[in-house]
Amino acid sequence: MKVFKKIGVLTSGGDAPGMNAAVRAVVRAALSNGVEVVGIYRGYSGLIDGDIKALDIRDVSNTINKGGTVLYSDRCPELKTPDGLAKAVETCHKFGIDGIVTIGGDGTFRGANALTKAGVPCVGIPGTIDNDITSTDNTIGFDTAMNTTLDLVDKLRDTCESHARCNVVEVMGRGAGDIALNTAIASGSTAVAIPEFDFDEEELFRKIKTSKKLGKRNFIVTVSEGMGSDYAPTLAKKIQAETGVETKFARFAHIVRGGTPTLRDRILATRMGAYAVDRLLQGKSNIVICERHDEIVARDITFALDLDALYKGVVSEGELQGYGADVVEEMKRECRERREKMAALYEIEGRLNL
Ligand code: ADP
Repeated sequence: MKVFKKIGVLTSGGDAPGMNAAVRAVVRAALSNGVEVVGIYRGYSGLIDGDIKALDIRDVSNTINKGGTVLYSDRCPELKTPDGLAKAVETCHKFGIDGIVTIGGDGTFRGANALTKAGVPCVGIPGTIDNDITSTDNTIGFDTAMNTTLDLVDKLRDTCESHARCNVVEVMGRGAGDIALNTAIASGSTAVAIPEFDFDEEELFRKIKTSKKLGKRNFIVTVSEGMGSDYAPTLAKKIQAETGVETKFARFAHIVRGGTPTLRDRILATRMGAYAVDRLLQGKSNIVICERHDEIVARDITFALDLDALYKGVVSEGELQGYGADVVEEMKRECRERREKMAALYEIEGRLNL
């Protein structure tokens, strides 16, 4: 079995609160096993450029509570080229890096997959606020982003109540409606529009008019950014025209990506970071660390990427060649479970939030 003397850790793609807690866990788990750690700065760009520094126990002090990423992040298209990949591998040889823990989203995992195939064992940890990685129930940063979004919606609701207004809020999530759906339920939004389900605007106008007659003064309509950038501002205008309720529009955007990570994100990141190092040192690579039914597990990166592609409709079942029928069935079951979970939340939101 390969003996690991030194491993690297990097954060890549969109940053997320809790990434630092994961970096800290990786550093301390490795050191506790007598393995040296280096921080690779600016994601894969730093790997290509050799932007690398040894990390000791104290270097990650006072970071578990910080948002953003102390290792910085970057998009690095160069890693997708054979030349860029060769440079990254060369850096690993030069610095004596035996393996890397990469923290990021699905793009980051593609990079980890390419590096593992090129001879540098990698393990991925899901860090993104969007929760759009199908193989894990929760990603690091999702809980914090939901709580930050909720706090902002609560504030808007106060002023909507004072002025008898409606506010359409567009929240982050890329193609996934998870942040929007969960915060809509928790904030008591009148309706939520997410790309996973058809949205009935006429029904919303009726709901607002009926509730207004019954004395309701504040209305929040939550829209996921996955509906398209024109959708929410246009909906705000339509609501005002159709219901006569003064309607404002707010886009939270990146404001919900920063900030202090919640307890849940810190714990998830710590569990995943420790697990990632254990697996890597046991000789496992090309895996992504996931949370399934509250357990931390390791899943093959290629499997995780294909499962994700199936869920998002990027590939069809017929295109999943190379997997046995039982594995394809398992993938379909997981996709179904995830959809059913969202459908149940969507139904509750529509029925109870009036
Ligand atoms: P995220 O990890 O949040 O999904 P990106 O999609 O921007 O963010 O991916 C982060 C980085 O991962 C990219 O900038 C690139 O360096 C690397 N990457 C993405 N796709 C590939 C790929 N197919 N091959 C190699 N590296 C990739």
